[in-house]
Amino acid sequence: MSAVRVLYLAGSGRSGSTLITTVLGQLDGFFAAGELRYLWQRGVAENRPCGCGVRFADCPFWASVMAEIPAAAPARIAAGLRTRLRMRALPALLRRHDRGAPALAAHPDDAVIAALYAALAGETGAVIVDSSKLPPYGALLGTLPGVELYVLHVVRDPRATAFSWRRRRGLDGAADDRLMSRPPVWKAALLWLVWNGATLRLWAGRPERYLRVRYEDFVAAPAAVTRRIARFAGPDPAELPFPAPGVVRLAATHSVAGNPSRHRVGTVPITDDAEWRARLSGRAYTVVTAVAAPLVRRFGYPVRRPRRPAAASGRRPNPQEG
Ligand SMILES: [Zn+2]
Repeated sequence: MSAVRVLYLAGSGRSGSTLITTVLGQLDGFFAAGELRYLWQRGVAENRPCGCGVRFADCPFWASVMAEIPAAAPARIAAGLRTRLRMRALPALLRRHDRGAPALAAHPDDAVIAALYAALAGETGAVIVDSSKLPPYGALLGTLPGVELYVLHVVRDPRATAFSWRRRRGLDGAADDRLMSRPPVWKAALLWLVWNGATLRLWAGRPERYLRVRYEDFVAAPAAVTRRIARFAGPDPAELPFPAPGVVRLAATHSVAGNPSRHRVGTVPITDDAEWRARLSGRAYTVVTAVAAPLVRRFGYPVRRPRRPAAASGRRPNPQEG
């Protein structure tokens, strides 16, 4: 069996991983698969739309991928993943990893999951970009035979992430049950700390397989950061999808599950949705910073709140635009 190269976007939710995944999906040699840990539930069982716009069962790409893997009970696989990847199991998973043991014990469904990635690689001949984010699922992929795991750790300022969780809707206004869940800011900050901490612990010790990118740096220099990610995990891209500074040209992908913004196509501005800088309350800023403090510093974010920008420049997201 030839190796299947997977570029796994790891970290916490609301960190800009959907946009980065969609951008990578525009490059030769990369396939944006979306959040594959949800494929069994949201794609196969619930038949939700693929990134290309049609229902999962009607997407010809996924039809030919699924035809290559053994028949499986999607609801059972989804339930098994939920159990194995639950937060409660994380401390034991990390201890096994630290001892050098497989982070997750082998499971009968792993053969089908491995077959899915092999079929994707066979169908596309590309690096499979999986934006599932959850560190335990990435650890599971690392145990699958034939998978070469490259981890892209995407981090974003936890104050921006917490603010984003508090908003009702996704970037394009579409409702989604995942986006509708709104944890309090302390909980959003704690999740940010736990998932980013787990990502560091699992992979940061292997620099040849681990790359960390801050979403804010991607927004400031999307072409340079995209090229860096591509060179880390696969072929150097001949062409990049940035027709002008601050914008990206997006074609539809076949990504399953994830933020509704993955459906955006055409020329799309790349912005650091900076509304939180003006609108996050002082109390929320303090709470999030206190909870997330150890990694706020490590990732190079300020602990003290910078002075608020002048009102005139408030919502203008990217000075390069226009
Ligand atoms: Zn599709």
